[in-house]
Amino acid sequence: MALKSEHTPQRYFRQMKAVTALAPKYRAMSDDQLKAQTAHFRQQLAAGQSLNTLKIPAFAVAREADRRVLGLFPFDVQVIGALVMQDGNVAEMKTGEGKTLTATLPMYLNGLTGSGNFLVTANEYLAYRDAKKMGKVYRWLGLTAVAGVPPTGGDPHDRDLQRIYKADIVYTTNSTLGFDYLMDNLAGTTQDRFLQGFHFALLDEIDAVLLDSAQMPLIISGAPRVRSNLFGIADQVIRLLKLDVDFERSSDHKKVWFTPAGITHMSEYLGLTGLLTEKHRTLYQHLVLALKAHQTLTRDRDYVVDDDGISLLDLSNGRKLAGMKLEAGLHQALEAKEQVPVSTQTRTMASITFQNLFRMFSHLSGMTGTAMTDAAELQETYRLSVIPVPTNKPSQRIDRPDQLFMTTDTKLEHAVALVKQAHDKGRPVLIETGSVSLSNLFSRILLRDEIPHNLLNARSAAKEALIVKEAGQLGAVTVATSMAGRGTDISLGPGVKELGGLLVVGTERMNSARVDNQLRGRSGRQGAPGETIFLVSIEDSILLEHGPKWLRKYRRQLAKNEAPAHPSWITRHRFKHLITQAQHNAEREDRQSRNQTLQYAEIMRVQRDTIYATRQTIMTQPDLTPLLTSVFKMATNAFLRDHPEPTRNVLADYVLNTIDNQLVIADVIDQQWTPQSQQTAKFLRRLMVDQLQKKFKNINEDQQVYFERMCLLKSLDNAWIDQVDMLQQLRQIATNRSTAQHDPLLEYLKDGRRSFANMKRAFAHQAVQNLLLSEFNFKADGTIDVTYP
Ligand code: ADP
Ligand code: MG
Repeated sequence: MALKSEHTPQRYFRQMKAVTALAPKYRAMSDDQLKAQTAHFRQQLAAGQSLNTLKIPAFAVAREADRRVLGLFPFDVQVIGALVMQDGNVAEMKTGEGKTLTATLPMYLNGLTGSGNFLVTANEYLAYRDAKKMGKVYRWLGLTAVAGVPPTGGDPHDRDLQRIYKADIVYTTNSTLGFDYLMDNLAGTTQDRFLQGFHFALLDEIDAVLLDSAQMPLIISGAPRVRSNLFGIADQVIRLLKLDVDFERSSDHKKVWFTPAGITHMSEYLGLTGLLTEKHRTLYQHLVLALKAHQTLTRDRDYVVDDDGISLLDLSNGRKLAGMKLEAGLHQALEAKEQVPVSTQTRTMASITFQNLFRMFSHLSGMTGTAMTDAAELQETYRLSVIPVPTNKPSQRIDRPDQLFMTTDTKLEHAVALVKQAHDKGRPVLIETGSVSLSNLFSRILLRDEIPHNLLNARSAAKEALIVKEAGQLGAVTVATSMAGRGTDISLGPGVKELGGLLVVGTERMNSARVDNQLRGRSGRQGAPGETIFLVSIEDSILLEHGPKWLRKYRRQLAKNEAPAHPSWITRHRFKHLITQAQHNAEREDRQSRNQTLQYAEIMRVQRDTIYATRQTIMTQPDLTPLLTSVFKMATNAFLRDHPEPTRNVLADYVLNTIDNQLVIADVIDQQWTPQSQQTAKFLRRLMVDQLQKKFKNINEDQQVYFERMCLLKSLDNAWIDQVDMLQQLRQIATNRSTAQHDPLLEYLKDGRRSFANMKRAFAHQAVQNLLLSEFNFKADGTIDVTYP
């Protein structure tokens, strides 16, 4: 055992020894005795013991159960990993160290507390697979454990949500949990709500969950917005514009903006003036979207176009991102660009970022093969420390230094030569490419050279797993995008060790060193031999997008044959740090952009929390009178805000349209009415209370509360959904604002707060209308039919 890491705090070694010391005690128990420990621990918890005090014996029990049920006895280092995670840290455990098994220890311990404990991955296939296999252990020990996701190809609507969220332990994905959470908060009754709280989340491949998918918020879309024909027009105009004349682009190609000349040209094409004025705001927004679609998103890298229309790709593994849509309007702009039918634009009904989803957990932890590189961010954003866990056996993997080439062609030729050389001996090779199109290209080159191989991209995770699993067999050649098949172990076939183990060839470095390390980690697991090498060229996208300026110049000279193809005149040193620097740039930009997402998401989080808490009150309070009183007050205040001194007609109009449309106005409002707001407010509130009482004359109290609840929820949800959509659009406007005078975030915060205040007034107004103007019929079975105004 290679237990010699100075980086793992000593206390974890001590605690691990305490766990291992208990092994003989539990080993000696019968199955029934061991199973009985669960009830025993639960009693201790009920008696006020903390999870921390139960940690040592509970880990020892889970470990023994792992052995009996799965035939796998967690190694000492795995116990250390479990302890690290129970403390709320991220355990960095290399690929192949057995993180899946490690997780059974903290999951069992937390599962003792009842529901609300989640093992989360970014991949449905893995969640289902691990729930099935590891679930056996928990169930054997008397806990309930289920998969939160459907089996591969299964329908997510077929899930038994009640059973899932009641379980002590749920294996699920970040998206599934997020969508279920949002749906839960769109539910009309408590019976339709399933989540039981957020106690513990252990995130497998935590970097994939928290960092790689952090910028894409989960969105539930609902009722369609009016279809806009401006997408086509905007698309045609954008095609006429020129880079650096009409618009400019940031070096990483992530941001584009119009120049004044561009604005002038577009106005000419469109034959209008004042493109930037309020009058043309919608048109201008469409132009911005079209520009973004053309300049920041690349076909076959960011998205694919097929029979299903446009699907976004997960950059890290080339897989289609199910259920992920670009934010408001960009998807349609992209459809216009690719000349596929423009889909109906839907309104966003609910949205949450993964950051905010996981911040709701009182106890968060994670594991991954690579996190040290992003430790500072995890610390800052999630208060998670990354703690490295030693490997079970010392690593024998050889990581070769990068080889630099001047062109992509020479690089790929060399890559093929490497593959050939290894393949001739039967040594398995895994080739990584940076994009789907490159992996197709490489596959064609291999075909040309008659090297049989498997190609992995944008397919189903299940098939990927099958292929990757075989990647360590004698003679296997596998071409993949960088993180395809992540989470599936590559074990070596017979005779492969003798050939030096799996050879990993990276054909380009990715935007983050962490992703590169993930790839390296596929080789040399559990002390097996292995070798990794990256081939890079100065034409690689990492250098194109994030490299220094002089390199661009050099590349141009090279193209014109003005520079030597083998730059002996340039010090090797100059090139040596090129990639590292470019990666640092890229990582910094990614970090900033994640941080920005977080800042923008914050206002939505605060507002969402308020709304969801109000929903909860509406659904659970037995007496809603206090809430109704404040709703009446809000509604009258809103009215008086718009009409500080209402004339008799204005007042009459409001009463008829909001409180009672059958009222004879002359009966309640004096001909000599003088507007004095204090009295008006009181007067209106009294009318509201009277009207409600009139409505409730013939129905019992239960029915009253039921009706009130329905009206309030409906109004709140309508108002909130509008607000979510509004925030979404405000954000887009803020981030597209190219004028530098304003701080876009501040503007967004201001607009966001203002619209929230409007939203509350809209809610109160609609609630009053729903309560007082709707018609209802009670049916024989006690339910009611409500016709809203
Ligand atoms: P990781 O997620 O850390 O990359 P996995 O959880 O996929 O690793 O496990 C890699 C392999 O190691 C699996 O085949 C698993 O069955 C095996 N394994 C894990 N722990 C043990 C153990 N304690 N004893 C024997 N085999 C183990
Ligand atoms: Mg794993």
